[in-house]
Amino acid sequence: MEKHELIIIGGGPAGLTAAIYAGRSRLDTLLIEKAAVGGRILMSEMIENYPGFPGGVSTLELMGRMENQVKELGVKIVSEEVLGLDPAALKVNTGAGVYAAEAIILASGARPRKLNVPGETQYTGRGVSYCATCDAPFFKGKTVVIVGGGDAMAEEALYLSRFAASVSLVHRRSELRASPILQERIRQDKKIHFILNSVVSRINGNIKVESVTLKDLLSGNERDFSCDGIFVYIGQEPETGYLKGKIDLDEAGFIRAGENMSTSAAGIFACGDCRKKGFYQVVNACGDGAVAADAAYKYVTGTVKNGVK
Ligand code: NAP
Repeated sequence: MEKHELIIIGGGPAGLTAAIYAGRSRLDTLLIEKAAVGGRILMSEMIENYPGFPGGVSTLELMGRMENQVKELGVKIVSEEVLGLDPAALKVNTGAGVYAAEAIILASGARPRKLNVPGETQYTGRGVSYCATCDAPFFKGKTVVIVGGGDAMAEEALYLSRFAASVSLVHRRSELRASPILQERIRQDKKIHFILNSVVSRINGNIKVESVTLKDLLSGNERDFSCDGIFVYIGQEPETGYLKGKIDLDEAGFIRAGENMSTSAAGIFACGDCRKKGFYQVVNACGDGAVAADAAYKYVTGTVKNGVK
């Protein structure tokens, strides 16, 4: 069995920052990531509010730089999916092997929330998408619907409008929750049309998506709306299924962690979007990662006992 001083689960902004701090503390560190190193932020093309980049920075560039920084520090990265965790023994099972550690940092992030309406699963990849950055070029000159009211929806609606002929924004309330600067931009974009107080109740098609059924929540009326694609941006759900019954989670599955990112299990820390908190941004995911690595270092070196300062 492979043993390390520290195992980090997840290679998004939180996990990579934790790995940078752990590497600089000379902890023997293994980072396990099941998909692309860089995390879910790679589903957005640009990030505009990461400090130090006026005008924004491409997420590929930013996350590529973080990954290189981690590798230069000698942190080992493996591409495996964590299937189980033994909190008492500090062991992680990936199917490919069992890894042991003296401390573990959970940075497994979150995944897109689904609409859970008829047709969604059937047409995923055939008109239903959760990633405008990946799929927008397939909708050049086409009519698309985007669902949601937050920052992610607003950023991706602007990106989609560079390709699609028209982008219809469907939101369940009359007010968006996206930041005012993004709301200004989508209101100025002539290709973006608002369909408010409405939800998508069904996705229809044959081989591919051909329309969505929209329900007006004020009148209760339903109508079919022709479109070639639908992009879903209605928030996120934590990637914490492998922790159920092992670590204290809230009702939605987010990890409860203290100020130094300690969880209910000694030697296990949590950071980033999988952690319960009030504000989910790349910049504070990185902040979480730094704090978690500091706490893990203190735990491994004996500066701190039982994960409590
Ligand atoms: P979000 O802020 O939670 O917004 C989700 C939106 O989807 C809300 O408008 C919500 O409506 C709507 N919604 C939720 N469930 C729905 C359902 N079942 N049917 C229809 N609509 C539904 O999610 P997000 O935009 O993905 O952003 C998540 C976090 O990441 C936020 O904190 C955001 O600020 C952050 N973020 C940061 C950046 C960045 O740092 N650059 C970029 C993107 C996102 P209601 O408004 O009615 O609740």
